Amino acid sequence: MKKPHRQSRMMGLLSLFVFLFLSGCTPQPAETSAQSLTVATSISPIADLIRQVGGDKVNVINLVPTGLDPHDFEPKPDDIRKVAQSSIFFANGAGEELYLDKLVQNAANPHLQTVVLSNGLNILDKTAGNPGNPHLWLDVKNAEHYVETIRDSLIKVSPADSAYFQANADKYLNQLDELDQWIKVTIGEIPPEARQIIVFHEAWPYYANRYGLTILRSLVHSGEAEPEPKDYAELIQLIKQKNVRALFGEAGFNPKLVQQLAEDTGVKYVGNLYDDTLGNTPNSNSYLAMMRTNTQAIVTALK
Ligand SMILES: [Zn+2]
Repeated sequence: MKKPHRQSRMMGLLSLFVFLFLSGCTPQPAETSAQSLTVATSISPIADLIRQVGGDKVNVINLVPTGLDPHDFEPKPDDIRKVAQSSIFFANGAGEELYLDKLVQNAANPHLQTVVLSNGLNILDKTAGNPGNPHLWLDVKNAEHYVETIRDSLIKVSPADSAYFQANADKYLNQLDELDQWIKVTIGEIPPEARQIIVFHEAWPYYANRYGLTILRSLVHSGEAEPEPKDYAELIQLIKQKNVRALFGEAGFNPKLVQQLAEDTGVKYVGNLYDDTLGNTPNSNSYLAMMRTNTQAIVTALK
């Protein structure tokens, strides 16, 4: 979760200028024919939501590679080139894409629309100086709102395919409704006194609020590497006091700290909840799969 230092940023800008110079600096106009409609987004869970609605009529570019921490991501010249060829950039917003303004500016495509999927939803921890907690998609109801916005945005860019996008979205929204119900019922299998989790980073309040879990602590906040030693001692005490049954690592983030904490407290370590990134297995390579896997992992560990 380190901040990129100034020099690498300068190098990035320099290579961008070289690239634009060599390529003649002419972004392509947005495509209007559906088959070649290209859109871009930041993270893989959102890329999947777009694919479910866009089907084979939309080419989706996913900037942050699967399995990586998006909070650390800086677009490279190749990413900027891809965004420059897109009709829409679907951003999560709420600070998930701190590079967004610069990216859109550098893409220099007057036809590019930016759609911020969290707009209109209740963003937690948002204050004057803080964009808030970006992980809204972990509440399935919020993901449904994302899907509706994606559907409406694609229809606007490609009205000829309106019926196709509408049908895909309807079908997928039904699956999301089923998922939401299933998570509620499944979390309900955990004894009420055990419905408490400690997670690695602060991705989980939307999920916890919707499905009835308490987050005792997120070990790190964005921008922090790890807790101070005195916080670590306090954590150990908290885990013992609250009789915490399991600690969870997260895909895309270094598991060392959580593993160490599990070892020091004798609590079970459960690897890889999926939040900011999908995985590469059938159990994690789609939004539906990742949400089921997360829920199963949590319930199995706490039941
Ligand atoms: Zn995150």
